[in-house]
Amino acid sequence: MKKSRKILLASALLIAVISAFALLVVQSSIIPRRPFSAPETSYHSWDGIFSSPQPISIHTYSTGMMQTDLSGIMNLAHEKAADIEDVVVEIPVTTSIIHHQELGAYLIDAGLDSSYTNNPYGTTRGILVKGFLGKGSQEPNTSIAAILERKNIQLQGIWLTHLHPDHTAGIVDLPKHIPYVVGEGERYLNFRFFMQSDHLAGIKALHEIDFTKGVDLPPFGKGVDLFGDGSFWAIESSGHSKGHVMYFINGVDEQVIVTGDACNDQYQFDSGIGPGYFSSDPEKAQKMLESIIMFKERYPEVRLVFGHDL
Ligand SMILES: [Zn+2]
Repeated sequence: MKKSRKILLASALLIAVISAFALLVVQSSIIPRRPFSAPETSYHSWDGIFSSPQPISIHTYSTGMMQTDLSGIMNLAHEKAADIEDVVVEIPVTTSIIHHQELGAYLIDAGLDSSYTNNPYGTTRGILVKGFLGKGSQEPNTSIAAILERKNIQLQGIWLTHLHPDHTAGIVDLPKHIPYVVGEGERYLNFRFFMQSDHLAGIKALHEIDFTKGVDLPPFGKGVDLFGDGSFWAIESSGHSKGHVMYFINGVDEQVIVTGDACNDQYQFDSGIGPGYFSSDPEKAQKMLESIIMFKERYPEVRLVFGHDL
């Protein structure tokens, strides 16, 4: 066989193997994407937003616990972390229910589904699970499904800070006909045979928030007025993940920022040490944490709900 023919054959074989791999393993993570159609914005600055609180409230719940390396959630290479040892820590996996007087109930992040009551890995299976995935645990009747049933809540939609499994697991138990909204470019990893959760199975599309059309909300980047009445905002906060979103609730009783994993807990906030190796861009994640600290100094009356704290 001629050398050029051999190369051609080898290339064709390689392409076939890669295609088969993609089809068999990676394809399970592909969900159709649609742009989130944001209403006309009502306010153009923090002062404007704060001067007009709306009838919206938020309650946060724990749906179970999850083990993780401290270095995953906290950058132990940070100069302030010299004395901090990398240990396995247990963190609460939370969900927040927001209630708008006219528009109804929504979730921010889905928490854990009920499979965690008797399986430490929930619905996740595959050859990498035992070696790489932290164990979860859950008291009976504390899953997202149990919370919604107990409170007799009909959800109108789901807002996600990002698509890491500890924020998507509960989707397994949620209705699928309602809108699911994420930041633009946020990825969901699901690898058949290796690490497969199928948390997004059954969802028709992910609606992506486009921040380029938002308003400037310093010290953060852009914000999008999600309901068009200034009550509920998405804030661009990539760093922990590519399309990470924080949410701001402009309630009459209180004003709250849900930080997601841009800040894991009070300890992270107090230390100023940014998110760890789970982050897609630790340098950006560090800057994001500094913006949150700066915001809280400027607006101490705003309550912060951290990604893994209660
Ligand atoms: Zn998380």
